[in-house]
Amino acid sequence: MQNIIDGFLKFQREAFPQRSALFKQLASTQSPGTLFITCSDSRVVPELLTQQEPGDLFVIRNAGNIVPSYGPEPGGVSATVEYAVAVLGVSDIVICGHSDCGAMTAISTCKCLEHLPAVANWLRHAESAKVINAARHHASAADHLDALVRDNVIAQLANLKTHPSVALALEQGRLNLHGWVYDIESGAIAALDGNSQRFVSLAEHPHTCALASQPSSAA
Ligand SMILES: [Zn+2]
Repeated sequence: MQNIIDGFLKFQREAFPQRSALFKQLASTQSPGTLFITCSDSRVVPELLTQQEPGDLFVIRNAGNIVPSYGPEPGGVSATVEYAVAVLGVSDIVICGHSDCGAMTAISTCKCLEHLPAVANWLRHAESAKVINAARHHASAADHLDALVRDNVIAQLANLKTHPSVALALEQGRLNLHGWVYDIESGAIAALDGNSQRFVSLAEHPHTCALASQPSSAA
């Protein structure tokens, strides 16, 4: 823990003064353009891998970068999505899975989760990815996991669209959805191309989008 406190002291001494004008501006307002949803995994650092500053990203993190479908008893993820879209008016939502994901490994290896009832319950929100993935042939366990990580990003994008605030913003043409998979070892990102439903290199195709909404003609 001491390294955490030492880090804070260093932040106060060095990083904070360098950004004092930014923090002064952010003291009473925020207008992040993007909601970034990713896994709690310690190796995935949204602000680092997108090179964003405080105030730029509104972030949701949980095991498996999961967004439960909207339902009669919305939870914390649903409330945060709603606030980001309906109040902050973000123009983009990224769902970012990653390589070597523990949550997806638990699903792909059918690990017994009886001793982890909360995890087992939570991962049921990835059930459609699990079923679709299980119906495919995989050359190896590694391929199986990589495909499941991607299928889960696609499944969570579908879940996201069940949220009323998201559905409305899409209908009004003011929201774009992005599905990414970050590779920890290489630092590469594969992005879902909504047209082909395939993942492509974001570096080679920087305008790739899972769902670019168009302003409704009926609006
Ligand atoms: Zn993970």
